[in-house]
Amino acid sequence: MRTVTTVAEVRAATGAARRQGRRVGFVPTMGYLHEGHTSLMAAARAATDLVVASVFVNPLQFGAGEDLSSYPRDLDRDTDLSEAAGVDLLFVPSVEEVYPHRPVLTTVTVAGITDRFEGAARPTHFAGVATVVTKLLAIVGPCTTYFGAKDWQQVCVVRRLVDDLSLPATVEACPTVREPDGLALSSRNVYLGPEERAAAPVLRRALEAGAALVAGGERDRRRVEAAMAGVVAAEPLAQLDYAAAVDAATLAEADVLAGQVRLLVAARLGVPRLLDNLGVDVPA
Ligand code: AMP
Repeated sequence: MRTVTTVAEVRAATGAARRQGRRVGFVPTMGYLHEGHTSLMAAARAATDLVVASVFVNPLQFGAGEDLSSYPRDLDRDTDLSEAAGVDLLFVPSVEEVYPHRPVLTTVTVAGITDRFEGAARPTHFAGVATVVTKLLAIVGPCTTYFGAKDWQQVCVVRRLVDDLSLPATVEACPTVREPDGLALSSRNVYLGPEERAAAPVLRRALEAGAALVAGGERDRRRVEAAMAGVVAAEPLAQLDYAAAVDAATLAEADVLAGQVRLLVAARLGVPRLLDNLGVDVPA
């Protein structure tokens, strides 16, 4: 594995690979890697010939008062884990390399599907994500890019961005990797105190309660949402942000559930806000 810090080095490596007919896989991350990230790298390794991963804590996707300066970082460990997961090229740019001109005047916004859920809680977040993903895909060039289903709204935003801007990328969503008790792995789980950590699987339990209702024939969106909210409300350490049942692709909230539905839940547990989601298929 080679670690590079400049746009020019990434372009040279991916361009050379494509000229030899090799497929490029790309996994963008903010580092502090865990098995969720390395599962994306393994998926890229299995399906493509040159695996590129990036570690970049993108300042544009953090709001004022969020955890940009304290976001966990450990580049030595990230380097070892990336190499073990089969990454060929690790791109670790500085903020100046990605954003040479400050303030940044050119940004990308995806309207509509960014208004609710994470976008409501973090109003500038998805513009930051869309801007950095657009830039990283412009740097890496034509590729298959791997995202975690754990951040479902992000997957929807990136898919729409790639379609709307005709970016030369195929977006793959990979399954959420969890702890044995059901908690979705997240770099921010390090902020959980022992009591909050013990309570954190409540998100997964809420999703399972919602999915069980739908499997039992419930089609009323509000009843499914109320059941999920009720599970979170029963955990005194958790403060619910939202519990929603939405169309999996558009995130639309229809009164009657149909087709591919995604159950979404977010709650604060002490300091960190945790998110999770689950897909349920509603037969016609
Ligand atoms: P981040 O470093 O948090 O920006 O995440 C980088 C990528 O890893 C994103 O596509 C995330 O959705 C994905 N990811 C984070 N946690 C998990 C997880 N537990 N399982 C699968 N993918 C994940």
